[in-house]
Amino acid sequence: MKKQSMVARKNMDEIRIENLEVYAYHGVYQEETEKGQPFFVNAVLYTDTTPAALTDELTLATNYGDVCHFISEWMKEHTCQLIETVAENVAREILLRYPLILEVDLEIRKPKAPIGLPFGCVSVKIHRSWHTVYLSIGSNMGDRQQYLEQAIDALRDHAQIKVGRVSEWVNTKPYGEVEQQDFLNGIVEIHTLLTPQELLEELHRIEAAAGRERLVHWGPRTLDLDIVFYDDLVYEAKDLTIPHVDMANRYFVLKPLSQMIPYYVHPVIGKNVNQLLQELNSAE
Ligand code: ADP
Ligand code: MG
Repeated sequence: MKKQSMVARKNMDEIRIENLEVYAYHGVYQEETEKGQPFFVNAVLYTDTTPAALTDELTLATNYGDVCHFISEWMKEHTCQLIETVAENVAREILLRYPLILEVDLEIRKPKAPIGLPFGCVSVKIHRSWHTVYLSIGSNMGDRQQYLEQAIDALRDHAQIKVGRVSEWVNTKPYGEVEQQDFLNGIVEIHTLLTPQELLEELHRIEAAAGRERLVHWGPRTLDLDIVFYDDLVYEAKDLTIPHVDMANRYFVLKPLSQMIPYYVHPVIGKNVNQLLQELNSAE
């Protein structure tokens, strides 16, 4: 299936770094961590070069020299057993430090690895990117708006989360059987380097910090944070289903979402957000 884009698509141009040589100390064996060996790095930095190209302004570009120095210093300053660990960390750090880079391919090559056989090279190559996620956020206890705003601040404070658009708040009657106050709900768009499970943990931490107690299922709560969409991912685990399993039945999710990504097609149901909202409205 063709990958859909959730946000206005930018050009995905490439800045390429080939065979950057770094003498470093990664490896499992003592001789590797003591004597060191040469590593070679290939990187593709995905970015939109148009703003820099049209103005010829260095400040609108990613300085590839700077990226090379950063990679080299990081690899010299750390000692990892695995080149997988080197690749993972360097890729994450590049995405965090250089805001114009949206995706990165990173290959760490180790041509002198102590294998004891004649060989050309071994390497690990990974692709990492910012993920676009839509969170449903809601509260129906106390100062509801303040709980929602504090949650957004908490998301903003996280190094690996960038907060994008925030919808208007929607006031809705509670869902389920329990007698309780009205809900205030909305959608928050974020870009994150966290995996789905890491993100869920972070959401639980933010809920707990807002004094959320899981007493009654669908009962009153100071703060509820759910993952609605995570890129085009379809994911099923014991404690996490993506897209959110009940989102197509929730007006308070579909209504604000339809203002942000009306034509985004649900990767399982195959209908866009507007269609899901219309169907829900006509079913009621
Ligand atoms: P709800 O959000 O459905 O009203 P809870 O907030 O009490 O109910 O969530 C119960 C559990 O649902 C969470 O502990 C979490 O493990 C699980 N869960 C499954 N899928 C998701 C998702 N997409 N986003 C957030 N939580 C989810
Ligand atoms: Mg929840």
